[in-house]
Amino acid sequence: MGFKTFKGGVHPYEGKELAKDQPIVEVLPKGNLVYPLSQHIGAPASPVVAVGDRVLKGQKIAEAGGFVSAPIHSSVSGTVKAIEPRRVAVGDMVTSIVIESDGAFEEVSYASCEDTASLTKEEIIGKVKEAGVVGMGGAGFPTHVKLSPKEPENIEYVIANCAECEPYLTADYRRMLENPEELIAGMKIILQLFGKAKGVFGIENNKPDCIEKLQEMVKDDPRLMVCPLETKYPQGGERQLIYAVTGRSINSKMLPADVGCIVDNVETIIAVYNAVKLGKPVMQRVSTITGDAVEKPGNFLYSVGTSYAELVEAAGGFKSQPQKIISGGPMMGFSMFGLDVPTTKTASSLLCLTEDEVAAMEPTACINCGRCVEICPEQLVPSKLAKFSDHGISETFEKWYGLECIECGSCSYICPAKRQLAQSIKTMKKQILAAKRKK
Ligand code: SF4
Ligand code: SF4
Repeated sequence: MGFKTFKGGVHPYEGKELAKDQPIVEVLPKGNLVYPLSQHIGAPASPVVAVGDRVLKGQKIAEAGGFVSAPIHSSVSGTVKAIEPRRVAVGDMVTSIVIESDGAFEEVSYASCEDTASLTKEEIIGKVKEAGVVGMGGAGFPTHVKLSPKEPENIEYVIANCAECEPYLTADYRRMLENPEELIAGMKIILQLFGKAKGVFGIENNKPDCIEKLQEMVKDDPRLMVCPLETKYPQGGERQLIYAVTGRSINSKMLPADVGCIVDNVETIIAVYNAVKLGKPVMQRVSTITGDAVEKPGNFLYSVGTSYAELVEAAGGFKSQPQKIISGGPMMGFSMFGLDVPTTKTASSLLCLTEDEVAAMEPTACINCGRCVEICPEQLVPSKLAKFSDHGISETFEKWYGLECIECGSCSYICPAKRQLAQSIKTMKKQILAAKRKK
């Protein structure tokens, strides 16, 4: 029997066996915590503390800088040591609040809610906004904005992105096994905003235990269902997931809400639960620290702002020196040049590999095999798009729908000539979008 899926896609080595059976372990931070003011899409947050201030865990330290923005909260109690530019995982310098933990984890008191079903839509969105919830799968789009579409009455599906299709990543898998109650309760809270919507958990069929567990738990709720999906990358891409679950398509000019859908990932939905039910802001998250260079790959619940170096230490350190360190998964993540940078709300994984396979590849001429075209989940012609990019022909690139590329990396992965197609396409996309913004 075929599982629901999309057209195209690839089957890279999964690598999930390294960490999938490791239960989530909590890591307490040791060093200073660093909170970049830009860790979401939209305006940076503005500090509401000053150097020398004592803060509590859960206290707001930066206010949202606009509607499309999110506040930031301290994940420890301690003292504000500095507000200064710090290097972040992508390599940029970003103004950050630095807090020295006092190790006491003294917390503010949280306004929990006994009966979430009695909350109004405005109250729910207000709590999500105040808690600084953003897309924690990596996108960082403020969740209160996503949950406020123009026509909420037209939303028919709230889709929990439980695909976790990136190789090596297992944090969502562990969350589904260990925190399904919170995940389901978070989904029910979101469904309160959309009267006629169904809540769908889209899970790849390489996680049969999660499918079974959630199916059992939602079987008596007519508004909730599990949709098992074919294991194929990029099944968790927003457009691919929507297509697999509903048969509806969107392009780069559309929002999921335009086809009646809201999509949130596992960690984000749990953050909604924490915000609305427990009154707790985003202070912690679960990430996978993995790869063949790591002594004990695993899944860790840690305070946002902890350095990546501390998380590697929690995973037993390196058993051999990594040649490549990636924030995120191997297909869509980005290379990091050091570990002395802070984790943020969107840090889903750290992958440390002993071999840099991509750097070792020598690209050769295109042999016109057509494989990149066959597998492109957006039905593009990557070989042509990369050529237009390499020659700086932006108009033709746009005519061939280059802006529809979701930067999934599948074309580079499949190319027998080892051409870095996705990288070229991404570069041209960036240039075109920057030029459009300037206009
Ligand atoms: S062209 Fe873009 S969407 Fe298509 S396979 Fe390559 S990276 Fe993915
Ligand atoms: S997969 Fe590589 S070699 Fe084949 S057509 Fe595409 S670019 Fe050319």
